Amino acid sequence: MSSQFNPALLGFECAACGRQVSPGSPEPTCPACGKPLVARYDLAKVARTASPRDLDRGGKDLWRYRALLPFAEPRPELRLGEGGTPLLGLPRLARELGVRELWVKDEAGNPTQSFKARGLALAANGALALGKRAVALPSAGNAGSAAAAYAAAAGLACRITVPEDTPEAFVLEQRALGAEVRQVPGTIAEAAVALREWAPSPEWWNVATFKEPFRLEGKKTLGHEIAEQTGWRPPEVIFYPTGGGTGLVGMWRAFLELRSLGWIEGATPRLVAVQSQGCAPVVRAVRTRAKRIERWAGAATLASGLRVPAPFADELILTSIGETGGAALEVSEEAMLDGMMDLTRAAGCFACPEGGATLAGLRRAREEGLVSPEDRVVLFNTGSGLKYLEAWRLATRRRESRGDGS
Ligand SMILES: *Cc1c(COP(=O)(O)O)cnc(C)c1O
Ligand SMILES: [Zn+2]
Repeated sequence: MSSQFNPALLGFECAACGRQVSPGSPEPTCPACGKPLVARYDLAKVARTASPRDLDRGGKDLWRYRALLPFAEPRPELRLGEGGTPLLGLPRLARELGVRELWVKDEAGNPTQSFKARGLALAANGALALGKRAVALPSAGNAGSAAAAYAAAAGLACRITVPEDTPEAFVLEQRALGAEVRQVPGTIAEAAVALREWAPSPEWWNVATFKEPFRLEGKKTLGHEIAEQTGWRPPEVIFYPTGGGTGLVGMWRAFLELRSLGWIEGATPRLVAVQSQGCAPVVRAVRTRAKRIERWAGAATLASGLRVPAPFADELILTSIGETGGAALEVSEEAMLDGMMDLTRAAGCFACPEGGATLAGLRRAREEGLVSPEDRVVLFNTGSGLKYLEAWRLATRRRESRGDGS
């Protein structure tokens, strides 16, 4: 079975207690302490067999970084065009905000229109490699749609629980893709509880954030692409709209690996987690220098991807921010919606509220001096605005009633 895996993949390691797990192991999380597992590679071996010049052989999607992903040829079995998204320059906004260079990584071109495809592509291929027949997850929207798409293409059964106020587009899409969907009162935390009975493991392989080790590997490719698209001189600062934190932790891992390979030099980009004032458990933990992230009570935000009251990988999230010299910022719902509209016009991409949060976060960071005029900065539009018509209706009405809606 282990021949399905990248020969440079040493296995998975618990970041909390150091327990090692072999590549073909069916353990989804640490068998000793239950915390998330993180992949480890023999980077000397990767350096001998791969170089930036060879990447084109892997294609234009995220599999061009397959030397740093867990599977061996002929995997992946499943490939829907995930990754390979543009890094769009925002010169006017850069001048307005007073930063050296500014880009947005626009993730709306992924399968099912969000960056969740990166993680779920890896998770679905991982499930197939381990011989699983059924996958399940709680979702705030985009993860469920991505899981449903890969499950449909693979012929895997798929069960999804979503908060009952999840935008309808997600639920329609998930059902259209053949998933069974249950709408649950509360947030993704309650959805996770409901899933445990309805889709118990091990029959249903749980592909929730950090509940298996492959999704994180897919999210690493955000870091790979940003590094390559900036000519292997990654930016000083990256603003990331943070819910469960997979992308934040993934980029931290990616830049560490690229630096040990010698593909990039210098400091790792400072990772800034942006959250909504209505659900900001990461920001609170960073501000109080806590070692763990406490559950946020009464979580409410139009950015469904940011409504994660108690992220499971809390220590890894805090480490990613701390070790990169990053920060965590909360923005108001109003600033987020303004950011969404401004990002849309500046970039020419129909942004989602989470994307708007990153622009609002940069504005705050400039005011507070967290970002300097010398810095090159990357924002994230993590998904398409088309799935969030309610947020767009509200934002448009607000702007019209202020009289600046032309
Ligand atoms: C899930 C999601 C996020 C948060 O991503 P994490 O990696 O879970 O922190 C941000 N934006 C959108 C659109 C999402 O779907
Ligand atoms: Zn452990």
